[in-house]
Amino acid sequence: MPRVPDSGSRVTALGVAGAPAPQRLTTSFRLGKRTVLDTGAAAHGLTVPERAQLDTILLSHAHLDHTLGIPFLLAEAEFTIYGAAEALDAVRENLLDGRTWPNLEARAVWNVVAPGDSFAVHEFDIEVGPADHTVPCLSYAIGHGDHKLVVIGDTRYSDKVVAWAAAQKPDACVVEVSYPDAMRDISQLYGHQSPSHLRGWREALGAECHLYVTHIKPKHEVAVRAECVAQGDPHLVLLQDGDELTY
Ligand SMILES: [Zn+2]
Ligand SMILES: [Zn+2]
Repeated sequence: MPRVPDSGSRVTALGVAGAPAPQRLTTSFRLGKRTVLDTGAAAHGLTVPERAQLDTILLSHAHLDHTLGIPFLLAEAEFTIYGAAEALDAVRENLLDGRTWPNLEARAVWNVVAPGDSFAVHEFDIEVGPADHTVPCLSYAIGHGDHKLVVIGDTRYSDKVVAWAAAQKPDACVVEVSYPDAMRDISQLYGHQSPSHLRGWREALGAECHLYVTHIKPKHEVAVRAECVAQGDPHLVLLQDGDELTY
């Protein structure tokens, strides 16, 4: 179980896969009891009583592996949802359009945010940062007490995104690696990263920052995991569904 310095609030990786597969849920992190960052596993990875405690969603971007829980969550409760303007529009127009699912748009308060914005969500101090993906995508710095966790959205390797994360001086950083190094160029084209990109993150974040790898595509899981482990980085952790990060 990965651990970083304990600020007393719990972050749970509900789903960390880059695509669904048996025993593999897609991106969602639960922050405390009431907030989720992305919803890929927010319905499938929580019990009904656990889901009933949620009331806030931070959205990285509109891709289905990150948003598919929203229609199910809104069917059960009202939410406040934060995300990029394009992402919120895409969810409302495509997932809550009254055809693929009932139009539940009115059950949420929709808050547009952009890099540089900061606000409080329950016990957390949130700062919005950039990501460099195929669609508008955000990262989030999640402060609690003196501790800070950064969760990077889906992204290709980008000096701008790395610099933003490093400037947060986080205790831990969740970063995506989707495809093996044999697909490094394609990975960048698709707005994703490969294991060798982690070296740049490590250099920028310093030797002590916990680096949590997420979003591995199940089709390439064996190769990506082996390439990450081969880096021999003692503070590099390959997340699994259900892992708890205290920070
Ligand atoms: Zn994506
Ligand atoms: Zn994704």
